[in-house]
Amino acid sequence: AEQLMVNSEKLSVAGQLAAGIAHEIRNPITAIKGFIQLMSSGIAEKQLYYDIMSSEIERIEMILNELLILAKPQAAQLKPADVRLVVSQVVTLLDSQANMNNVQIITAFDTGPAWILCDENQIKQICINFIKNAIEAMPGGGIVRIQLSQQEHGRFILRFTDNGTGIPEEVLSRLGQPFYTTKEKGTGLGFMVSKKIIENHDGTLSVHSKEHEGTTIEVSLPSMQAIEEPPSLDLNRLQV
Ligand code: ADP
Ligand code: MG
Repeated sequence: AEQLMVNSEKLSVAGQLAAGIAHEIRNPITAIKGFIQLMSSGIAEKQLYYDIMSSEIERIEMILNELLILAKPQAAQLKPADVRLVVSQVVTLLDSQANMNNVQIITAFDTGPAWILCDENQIKQICINFIKNAIEAMPGGGIVRIQLSQQEHGRFILRFTDNGTGIPEEVLSRLGQPFYTTKEKGTGLGFMVSKKIIENHDGTLSVHSKEHEGTTIEVSLPSMQAIEEPPSLDLNRLQV
């Protein structure tokens, strides 16, 4: 009976997600279809149509890219990586985008080498998601602080702190729900995907936020020394 319940629960989550995907992708496709019809009827302003169509296609791409991380659990490859290096690479990647938004990214590594067993691209992905959210939460600019420390029993704690808008209660309660976004150009997938990745790495995620003051996202990941058995990815856990 328990097995049955688990299965039907899974199905409803999958169904929910499928309905969300269908809805999110149908909108831009309907728009593209409409513009193709307008263009084939010979009405002018083609450049404008091209621009809208390409931004709608970009949106579909964005949604699919984020979903692919969930759809391809077998692509996860666990290898040793130093969190400091992974974070540094992501910061380099996002620095110019941060600068353009008057945001400064400051890292503080209060550890030596921080080895974890992970899929490096997935850990990069969560860093990108949290840093981007932080940048987007500070329209007037600000500071993103990334702090890495190690607990006594070996876990690494990675904190992303911004002094942005903060997260109101009603948004906080819906974080991680697919397609929930407060942004005009958001996908509402970043948080859900990050949460799945972290769970898949035996990590935990917590959010502390105060409106008008800012947000701290805290990720805890097991250090390599703390892992007793050779870990293997549990494919079932990634399926939605
Ligand atoms: P998206 O960024 O595409 O909207 P996410 O899943 O990354 O989707 O985030 C969902 C929502 O959570 C955002 O739309 C935003 O309202 C809120 N949020 C996430 N991170 C932050 C943050 N650091 N500060 C304020 N709000 C945030
Ligand atoms: Mg986001």
